[in-house]
Amino acid sequence: MPSERPLVDAAGSAVEIVEVGPRDGLQNERTLVSTAAKIAYIEALVAAGARRIEATSFVHPKRVPRMADAEEVMAGVPRGDGVRYIGLVVNERGLDRALAAGVDEVNVVVVATETFSQRNQGMSVLEGLRSFSSISARARSSGLRVTATVGASFGCPFEGEVDPAAVGALVRSCVDAGADEIALADTIGVGVPSDVARLVAEVRAVTTDLPLRFHFHNTRNTGYANALTAVALGASALDSSTGGIGGCPFAPAATGNIATEDLAYALRRSGVATGLDLAALVSAAALIGGELGIVLPALLGRAGDFPAGLSPERRL
Ligand code: MG
Repeated sequence: MPSERPLVDAAGSAVEIVEVGPRDGLQNERTLVSTAAKIAYIEALVAAGARRIEATSFVHPKRVPRMADAEEVMAGVPRGDGVRYIGLVVNERGLDRALAAGVDEVNVVVVATETFSQRNQGMSVLEGLRSFSSISARARSSGLRVTATVGASFGCPFEGEVDPAAVGALVRSCVDAGADEIALADTIGVGVPSDVARLVAEVRAVTTDLPLRFHFHNTRNTGYANALTAVALGASALDSSTGGIGGCPFAPAATGNIATEDLAYALRRSGVATGLDLAALVSAAALIGGELGIVLPALLGRAGDFPAGLSPERRL
């Protein structure tokens, strides 16, 4: 029986888009982009209205060579206009670097399953939580906002199904450890809207009013449906990358994050404000697509805006 509930019933509201192209997007692309091109990309994103940008990752350059220029990127990004830059941090050393580089927020990943946590973070879930706790305390005492991203919330590349109750328990622990925001990440792009609803219920059972952010990949073409569902269920922020760049390290042929311009289109048509300029987003996507030498997964730049709007010469 069809639901009487509209797909997005948040018309007249707003959602914050966290642009993750410079970090999650570029980190997972084959081509290494120059620091100057990364900064030009971020400038284009700011010009398109992006106000919260995950700019880089402070991880060991041997682990993630694409983010080896984190300090140089942060030194070159445009400041002001209410733009906030997020640095991904995995340990205390990363936090030291992020603080020195002048980020406004840190994003710390904890992982929902033991095997993924060991393989990706080199520590157990509990150790990850302890690490989050110490990073969070220091970051907050330095005045930074702290997000706990729960990786593999929707499914694990090693263990398969993930129990939403386990995600809820981990979220509660992160809140107790000082998280200002919780992000639920579908790291491998397996989730569907009913999973979003189940996770929102679990999280709201353990924490009632903390800002809830979602990170979706369009690996199996469910990313946009998941994002719209999350908005309808009260998500305050969504991650996306212009152009849909990024891929998935666990599915080599897969597309990347949901695309900011396609998401912003769907939201605008649903009456949900994002503050983003769609034509300028398409330009930013074309810029980074050109640097990467790829055909972008995003579709708005190919199809054009509706009504009227984008000219088709921006096709890639
Ligand atoms: Mg990701």
